[in-house]
Amino acid sequence: MSKKPEDIIRSEIVALKAYHVPDSAGLVKLDAMENPYRLPAELQAEVAQMAGSAPLNRYPDPGAVQLKARLRTVMGIPDGMDLLLGNGSDEIIQMLTMAAARPGAVVLGLEPSFVMFRMIAAFCGVQFVGVPLKPDFSLDTGKVIAAIAEHQPALVFIAYPNNPTGNLFDEEGIRRILEAAPGMVVVDEAYHAFAGKSFMPRLADHPNLLVMRTLSKSGLAGLRLGLIAGNSAWLAHVDKVRLPYNVNVLTQTVAEKALQHHDLLGLQAAAIRAERARLYDELGRIAGIQAYPSDANFILFRAAGAERVFSGLRQRGVLIKNLHGSHPALTDCLRVTVGTPEEDTRFLAALKETVNL
Ligand code: PMP
Repeated sequence: MSKKPEDIIRSEIVALKAYHVPDSAGLVKLDAMENPYRLPAELQAEVAQMAGSAPLNRYPDPGAVQLKARLRTVMGIPDGMDLLLGNGSDEIIQMLTMAAARPGAVVLGLEPSFVMFRMIAAFCGVQFVGVPLKPDFSLDTGKVIAAIAEHQPALVFIAYPNNPTGNLFDEEGIRRILEAAPGMVVVDEAYHAFAGKSFMPRLADHPNLLVMRTLSKSGLAGLRLGLIAGNSAWLAHVDKVRLPYNVNVLTQTVAEKALQHHDLLGLQAAAIRAERARLYDELGRIAGIQAYPSDANFILFRAAGAERVFSGLRQRGVLIKNLHGSHPALTDCLRVTVGTPEEDTRFLAALKETVNL
């Protein structure tokens, strides 16, 4: 007798809602924290040439030696720290969780935060404990410390700045969490390029600290490259669950080339930060909109009737992210990625029309 798929697939997977990526064809795309700028034309030409002559008949370098050397310099990874790469930082979250998934293990995160921490815990059959942020989205250190004492998490994830709220958390609070946690504490610095603050220089102070970054928000989302730095006492084990060729030949080649010009990516990030300030100011001037300050390349805002605002924007050709309904603290919340000045002007005009309906 054959069984129904739902009787074979793990019940926690059956219960999951798939991560939905909406169709953005023809829309101003401000939903996914991408950098709106392409590589400069001369760099594009170099990349095209390198891609053409890359040894695609061969497996990639499993140790990604050249790329790692470049990343160590560009990202300021302290000497003596290990470095592990992933097919995006999503894959690193998966490797960490898989490696720590003993029976009864707990992964702890903050809420609201990046949904993949919770989803990947479910993929790996691990319990996820979400500790609420304060109503103003700041860190409730006391609550986190109490939850750590109760659940003894194998892994703690802290997005710094946080997605979707955009803020950096109190450094002293994170330091106390590092001291209280029995296992790994991952400070996820996906939005580092727009924040100017980092735990990377502190790796040597905390043996259980791991600092994760990605190239996705700095103009290379299509390459899929994430990295995590920290003590090899942890990362040597995590590396064992990494599939041998997880960072492909084209990603290794192109990322290395692009990072040789990381000053250009830095200029783009600076332009995005300046534009973020303008967007925040303009949002603040629209009656009925409450925008939250951001250290990232997106802005969270509240608008009554967020569902209607979201679809009104979409009808006017602008795609942002609707967070209403995803968490009680995000009622009526929407998140807009900082685009080019032209894209943001279109967004603001569409938003004004929509809220004034
Ligand atoms: N961490 C955070 C906090 C994020 O917001 C994201 C992307 N939304 C990621 C990690 C994953 O990024 P990627 O897999 O593209 O590196």
